[in-house]
Amino acid sequence: MVSSLLPSPTKHLRPMHVETILHMKEGLGDTSYAQNSSLQRNSIETLKNIIINSALDVYISLSPEQFTLADLGCSSGPNTVTVAGEIIKKIGGICHKYSIPAPDFSVMLNDLPTNDFNTVFVNSPEFIQSLKDFAEIDEWGHPTVFVAGVPGSFYGRLFPRRSVHFVSSCSSLHWLSKVPPGLFNDIGQPVNKGKMYISHTSPPEVAKAYYKQFQGDFSKFLKARSVEIVSGGRMVLAMLGRRTQDHSDPSTTLLWELLAQSFDLLVSHEIIDQEKLNSYNVPFYAPNIIEIEEEVRKEGSFAIDYIDIFETKLNASGDARKDGKVLSMAIRAIQESMLSHHFGGDIIDALFNNYTELLIRSMEREEIKSVQIGVVLRKL
Ligand code: SAH
Repeated sequence: MVSSLLPSPTKHLRPMHVETILHMKEGLGDTSYAQNSSLQRNSIETLKNIIINSALDVYISLSPEQFTLADLGCSSGPNTVTVAGEIIKKIGGICHKYSIPAPDFSVMLNDLPTNDFNTVFVNSPEFIQSLKDFAEIDEWGHPTVFVAGVPGSFYGRLFPRRSVHFVSSCSSLHWLSKVPPGLFNDIGQPVNKGKMYISHTSPPEVAKAYYKQFQGDFSKFLKARSVEIVSGGRMVLAMLGRRTQDHSDPSTTLLWELLAQSFDLLVSHEIIDQEKLNSYNVPFYAPNIIEIEEEVRKEGSFAIDYIDIFETKLNASGDARKDGKVLSMAIRAIQESMLSHHFGGDIIDALFNNYTELLIRSMEREEIKSVQIGVVLRKL
């Protein structure tokens, strides 16, 4: 093989190019995102009424003939069509009640180009069909819902200017566009040794580097959407977040700490080397409310109609063994692409076997919650 002739000592220090690597586990199999997205579904359920009512407000105030809604970070599971379907049903229901024609709906499903769009559009025809089931039928017998996949990063422009009425993005904006460059010093050595996210043992420059990356990314997100969303349009965003100013707040870092512990076990069994672990950091940031408000204020095109923090219990059934397994599978479906890229696919089973046990032990001791921030922005 040609690759075996190439020198390899620095292979593991390749910077991860997030936008070509990150994707939720594809397909419909047992380890797929489609089968392991109940955490994200719970977060949608919590915000469902806010999402639907915000979309309805836009429809009532603007009454467009065609209503464009976009789901940013749609992934390849059923959650994406749940949101759009509920909106179409609600607006359709209001139109029916007042005997006015429902608008044509354009549903834009966006994710990174690496996302498994085939599962959404080809392998699970019932996803898209479920959207059409709620639609009005036109004079030729066609449902008036038009669905498109939009591959690209939401940190850049995705749609024509002033073309979108409503945006939702759930469980996606905590993913950064890249691993913060500040996590490596001037000579390229990792500064966050043994950890993959901000930890209470991380040096202060780690939290600074992550926060700076979030500020840059989130402001680009807002700028792009400010061009695309019509005046009076709304955007509902939900992402993992923190209650406090403390960057290593245990409620947002516990799951990363346990993953680091699971890695430590692999290092102690010499399955991976410490150096390789030291250079791995996740492109993730959980902001607090003040940090989100600050970027919205600086960008200046949106008013905040609502912002709040909410918690979802991860020990949902009360059976630690069962809940630990569900959570471990969910985290695996999210992270496998990045972990395999850095460490190779061979370590994944061992890593997640350890992780499941660590989660179960932790859930036996305490209640684990995920903390999310929900925000509704109105385009001025
Ligand atoms: N909204 C879905 C999926 C959440 S998983 C749900 O609630 O179930 C997060 C998704 O965000 C992933 O599919 C990931 O690929 C996508 N994502 C992360 N960064 C992105 C970016 N910069 N642009 C577009 N999508 C992104």
